[in-house]
Formats: sequence, C-alpha cells, structure tokens
Amino acid sequence: MAIIIDGKGVADKITEQLKQKISQLQDKPHLAVIQIGNNAASTLYVNLKKKKAEEIGIKSTVISLDENIAEKELICKIEELNNDNSVHAVLVQLPLPKHINENNIIKAIAPNKDVDGFTAQNTGDLFNGIKPKAYPCTPKGVLKLLKEYNIEIQGKHAVVVGRSNIVGKPLAIMLLNEHATVTICHSKTKNLPEITKQADILISAVGKKVIFKDMVKKDAVVIDVGIFKDENNKTTGDVDFENVKEIAAYITPVPKGVGPMTIACLMENTIELYEQQ
Ligand code: NAP
Repeated sequence: MAIIIDGKGVADKITEQLKQKISQLQDKPHLAVIQIGNNAASTLYVNLKKKKAEEIGIKSTVISLDENIAEKELICKIEELNNDNSVHAVLVQLPLPKHINENNIIKAIAPNKDVDGFTAQNTGDLFNGIKPKAYPCTPKGVLKLLKEYNIEIQGKHAVVVGRSNIVGKPLAIMLLNEHATVTICHSKTKNLPEITKQADILISAVGKKVIFKDMVKKDAVVIDVGIFKDENNKTTGDVDFENVKEIAAYITPVPKGVGPMTIACLMENTIELYEQQ
C-alpha cells in the first residue's frame, strides 16, 4: 500500500515559513493578478490565490478586465504593471479569450516580474540549466514534494504524461536538470501503458482519467497533477487513485496533493521576485 503524499500538509508548512519571512521584511511584496472575463474556474483560482496571499501577508491586487478587451489594451495594462515599482509580481490568469494570443501576452510580462516563470527568458534559463527569476509554480511544487519525501530523482526513469508549456514541458526539463532520465508522453503517444509501466516516477498532467493500475510499475512514485470534475461533479485527478495506491510506493491524492503546492510556490515566487528587485 502506497504512502499518501500530503501535499496540503507540505504546502501548509511552506505557508508558515513564508509568513515568518514576511514578518521580517520592511515592505510587503505585491502580486498583481489580471483576470480577463469571468470564467468560473479562473475566478475560483484567482480567489484562492488572493486568499492565500492575504493569509501570508502578501499584498494582492486583482485587476478584472472585460472579456472583449483588445490584445493591445491588455498589453498596455501589463506594461503599466511592469513599470510600476510598487508591483513586484505579475500574473495573467489563463486561459485567455480566444481572440487574444497567449504568446504575445506572456511576452509582454517583464521577466523580473514573471511570477509564473512562463516568459522566454525564464523558460530559456530553465532550458540552459540556469536558475530563472521564477520557476513555473506547478513543476516547482512537484519537485518540492519529491524532495520533501526524500524521493531520489537522479538516475530514475521519470515519465511525464502531458506536454503543456505550463506543466509537462517545464517539469520534464526540471527533472532532467535533476539528472532523471525523462520520457515525455502526449495524446499522440503510441502504447502509453508500455511506457508508463517503465516509470520509477510517473507524473500525469492531462486533465482526464488516463492512468490505471495496469499502467504502473510496482513501487513506482505516482504524482497526479490533473484536476477536473468527474461525471458526479466530484473533484478528481488523472490517476485511478484507489487501485493504483495498491501497487505504488508513493502517490498524491486529488484534491490535497499538487494543487496546494502550486499556490504555495506562487507565494514563494512572489517573495523571491520582491527580494530580487
Ligand atoms: P493541457 O494544456 O490541456 O495539456 C494536456 C496535455 O495532456 C497535452 O499535452 C495533451 O497532449 C495530453 N493528453 C491529452 N489526452 C491525452 C491522452 N489520452 N494520453 C496522453 N496524453 C494526453 O493541460 P495543462 O494545463 O497542462 O493541465 C493538465 C491538467 O493539470 C489539467 O487537469 C489541469 O487542470 C491540471 N493542472 C493542475 C494544476 C495543479 O496545481 N494541480 C496546475 C495546472 C494544471 P497534446 O499535447 O498532444 O494535445
């Protein structure tokens, strides 16, 4: 039976450390969050971030913009925040409305305020093995969980299912930088079970139930990044948790696994950007 990785517990510990750190700072770090439109999931995430920032003592400002805002206007707003010395971290809540090009928006964020670590400079640094201004929050949270549980990464075969720019790709690079042997899988991968069964560390970031017991090697470490509602409107992840936990050595639950770590890392990144400025 697997050890259940307590993401919520580790995130709470980080929160306490950050509160401690903030109490010793002269000013409050300031996180600006831009939300475009009123997508329900985005509103939920933005509120969670705001609440956590308040709890820690980080100043947060939510800038709500109209669904129909022009790309140019949004870029102007980001540039305004880039030039505002009282703002230390800028986050644009994704996804964006279809008429806005995500790459153009990410490009507009100043790398030294890029709290999500998505800009070309920060992802390029990651690629080159240089410490970026900020690491992408979810991959950073996953690596922190592995380290917290003393799970060795070096020399292990890590299989990452999902190749998005925000989770799968940066996570694969970060695992590679930690000397894992990394395989990246996606929707066009043939014989997915054959590959996942080779994983010492199996990480799924898909958003659908894709990982079942017969796809997992005995005593593997299974990290579930996925989060979505099932047919009964219950929050769930990519992994068939109940059955996979029977053979894995470690497993993250959904909820209370990777999710709280992402928010904790966002808060840590905000403080780190403040300190760098
Ligand atoms: P995304 O951009 O939709 O990417 C999903 C990836 O899964 C794509 O690379 C896609 O392949 C791949 N995929 C789709 N169907 C597949 C299949 N049947 N087999 C193998 N791969 C498949 O999603 P994302 O933004 O990375 O997020 C992934 C999940 O993580 C979502 O549930 C999201 O809500 C969750 N998430 C959680 C956190 C957290 O803090 N816990 C943070 C971010 C995201 P292609 O590239 O070929 O299309």
